[in-house]
Amino acid sequence: MFCLFRPLAPTWKYIIVGDYAVGKTSLCKVFSGESFKVEYKPTIGVDIFTRLAFIDNNFKVKFQIWDMAGQERFKHVMIDYFRGAKAGAVVFDITRYETYESVGEWVLMVRKNSGAIPLILVGNKLDLEEKRMITAEEGKELAKKLELIGYIEASAKNNINVEKVFIEPIRHYYDQHKRYLRK
Ligand code: GDP
Ligand code: MG
Repeated sequence: MFCLFRPLAPTWKYIIVGDYAVGKTSLCKVFSGESFKVEYKPTIGVDIFTRLAFIDNNFKVKFQIWDMAGQERFKHVMIDYFRGAKAGAVVFDITRYETYESVGEWVLMVRKNSGAIPLILVGNKLDLEEKRMITAEEGKELAKKLELIGYIEASAKNNINVEKVFIEPIRHYYDQHKRYLRK
């Protein structure tokens, strides 16, 4: 039935961080469908992807996903990148130990600039199991130590767990705030 008071989907900013070439852009493309890439901000070196998704039976969110577009190579990530984010992911590559070692630094950067938002730890490139350098157990331990909402392994290449990378942190934010949102 048509309902006049049906709320519009809010737009929530989501940030994805982690070392260069761990697969952040690939995850964004799979989640949003490449054609949904709406905006490029060359001045701040950010690509923005959007997608509408249900995070609850009757609650829809417009994901506005900020992707670093190469600036992470020089660790020149702008303050603007972090401001106003509701949730996000820290990604490493399970085949490259140095990307796992950088996770703590990325979490600090987010905490300093975005506050205590829900963050998930993602070990990407699960399809390269034979080249794995970090165990699932090490991923889980690190997520716990850094007080993240959890650890998941994903593959942008084979589309494994990509939805969870985006939906779980945003759902966490929603669960924390739904009392106020539904009024
Ligand atoms: P970003 O720099 O973190 O944004 O990483 P990109 O998304 O640009 O990916 C870096 C490289 O890793 C590219 O060559 C991708 O094709 C590759 N890549 C990304 N995700 C995966 C994955 O899940 N599995 C494999 N095998 N390669 C991936
Ligand atoms: Mg990228």
